[in-house]
Amino acid sequence: MPELPEVETVRRGMAAKLAGNRIKSVGLARSELRWPIPQGFAEALVGRSILGFGRRGKTILMRLEGGLSVLWHLGMSGRLRLSGPDEVAAPLPHEHVVIETKEGWRLGLIDPRRFGSLDLVPTAHEAQHPRLASLGPEPLEDAFTPSWLEAALASRRTAIKVALMDQTMVAGLGNIYACESLFRARISPRREARTVRGERAARLVAAIKATLAEAIAAGGSSLRDWRQTSGELGYFQHAWKVYGHAGEPCERCPGPPACRGIATVVQQGRTTFYCPRTQR
Ligand SMILES: [Zn+2]
Repeated sequence: MPELPEVETVRRGMAAKLAGNRIKSVGLARSELRWPIPQGFAEALVGRSILGFGRRGKTILMRLEGGLSVLWHLGMSGRLRLSGPDEVAAPLPHEHVVIETKEGWRLGLIDPRRFGSLDLVPTAHEAQHPRLASLGPEPLEDAFTPSWLEAALASRRTAIKVALMDQTMVAGLGNIYACESLFRARISPRREARTVRGERAARLVAAIKATLAEAIAAGGSSLRDWRQTSGELGYFQHAWKVYGHAGEPCERCPGPPACRGIATVVQQGRTTFYCPRTQR
């Protein structure tokens, strides 16, 4: 599932090619994704120019002239295919939504499992949309501080890993980057959330910011050659330090026989990867 860095990479890719374009046509192969696509969606978009792209948590905000915003959520399996004026883009299976611009760009939303969603809201009311209204602070913005995190965790008896994936705590972290941030901060994913205070909370906030910033930078570098690869935006190879590395030594440990390497534990149905030796 795309998390903040992947969504931010998609946002940048869309902005680079589509900002300033005017929408020529909108094709809908079906009337619903996770929820029904808003009535009159295509008619509302056609003819408007695209002013730019924002992001809140894992949601992309496509801002159109006339004060209208499209909220894109890629869900579990959604991805976007962007093709240029000199390319022929045959429709793909599960390509549910296609937006074409007068400038010759084509944006397709491919979502086999249809957990994604599209909403249409006045730009002035984006923040009140149910998907966005309850979100916690953006982790890369100044409002996400150690004291804010400590206060938000103060009454939480759940494991810190579970708390970090709660979007009301901080926006945009999912399983992968919660694991990676806790590893960087040397905090056990099983630690009771309310015990993350003081210097430990400061370490965690710094680790979250650094982990996300590095992943976005890696996404940006993958974006430079997006046309040579698949033309699809949204996923990139990134060097995760613990996620997907069960049994391997972490970068801080000697490996077997001195230690048993990266361990896993299932928390709320998701597999957590961590180093039991250095995360406390
Ligand atoms: Zn280790």
